[in-house]
Amino acid sequence: MASNVRLYLDHPLSPGQSCALTQAQSHYLFGVMRLSLGDRLTVFNGQDGAWRAEVLRADRRKGVIAAVEQTAPLVMPPDVWLLFAPIKKARTDFIVEKAVELGAARVMPVQTEYTNAERIRQDRLQAHATEAAEQCGGTFVPPVDDLARLDRVLSDWPADRHLMFCDESRLGAATSLADAPRGPWAILIGPEGGFSPAERARLTAMEMAHPVSLGPRILRADTAAIAALTLWQAALGDWG
Ligand code: SAM
Repeated sequence: MASNVRLYLDHPLSPGQSCALTQAQSHYLFGVMRLSLGDRLTVFNGQDGAWRAEVLRADRRKGVIAAVEQTAPLVMPPDVWLLFAPIKKARTDFIVEKAVELGAARVMPVQTEYTNAERIRQDRLQAHATEAAEQCGGTFVPPVDDLARLDRVLSDWPADRHLMFCDESRLGAATSLADAPRGPWAILIGPEGGFSPAERARLTAMEMAHPVSLGPRILRADTAAIAALTLWQAALGDWG
């Protein structure tokens, strides 16, 4: 029987290729989604597009599936990174999930001067990104980096990458990306405390930085991430 289940596999995919599932994947497919022997699902590995697959062994601990045929090509998101300062756990999870749904190519948690978090669980955030890609029909899972200091990230900034610097001090200024240059981009969202004066001065002086306002109200960081990605995708991304 065909199912709507989509599963990310860290495994090469080719016709007839069988894949042993992890215990968590086996539990999800056969304990939660109740798939049985011969049932069909969609799998993807972030490189080979989407594949129709069939259940070869419906064991809740050690399941096995086989890839049958490719049903969709790999679709990469536009080349836009999301840099954000981690906030409370649930809101940070939310930002990662929405970044994947909205088509970020890389997610980069950064520690700014006013960031409270000193570490993040990168593996947990990467798992959230994978789950979001499974649910939104994606064939690519953006990498989620470990926490890095913003000043170091800016010191190594790629010469060709534009930076949409979401600057709360520009509250209400006009924002338009209609004439913004094409090419690789990144979006930067600050923490609940905003950017320090030194950070703002450094960012404003960067040749590739484009300071923008996200409207006349202060948005929470998670709202700001969604608003900025939406603006960018509509003007420069893959929204048609
Ligand atoms: N504590 C800061 C203040 O009161 O000015 C607000 C920080 S805001 C909660 C978190 C981040 O979201 C900001 O650093 C900025 O990147 C972004 N942000 C929120 N509202 C914004 C706006 N209206 N324009 C530009 N960026 C905004």
